[in-house]
Amino acid sequence: MRRLLAALTLCISLLFTVALPIPAQQDKAAQQDPKTQTVYVTRTGKKYHRDGCRYLSLSKIPISLKDAKAKGYTACKVCHPPD
Ligand SMILES: [Zn+2]
Repeated sequence: MRRLLAALTLCISLLFTVALPIPAQQDKAAQQDPKTQTVYVTRTGKKYHRDGCRYLSLSKIPISLKDAKAKGYTACKVCHPPD
């Protein structure tokens, strides 16, 4: 039983080591961080864009890079957003 507890403690501490560096909240100010970087999608397109891309003239919906990828958006070939 004590060995199980030790293994469990190790698992939990490992989990924390892995989980902690990932910021949980999406802060628009932290655009330098690739994990929280904001990109823009359009209402109809399936690409995500950098701010100022010409494809954003019709609609411009801010979304985090992570969410954009999770929703299946791919990087625009015109403005080359980060991937
Ligand atoms: Zn673009």
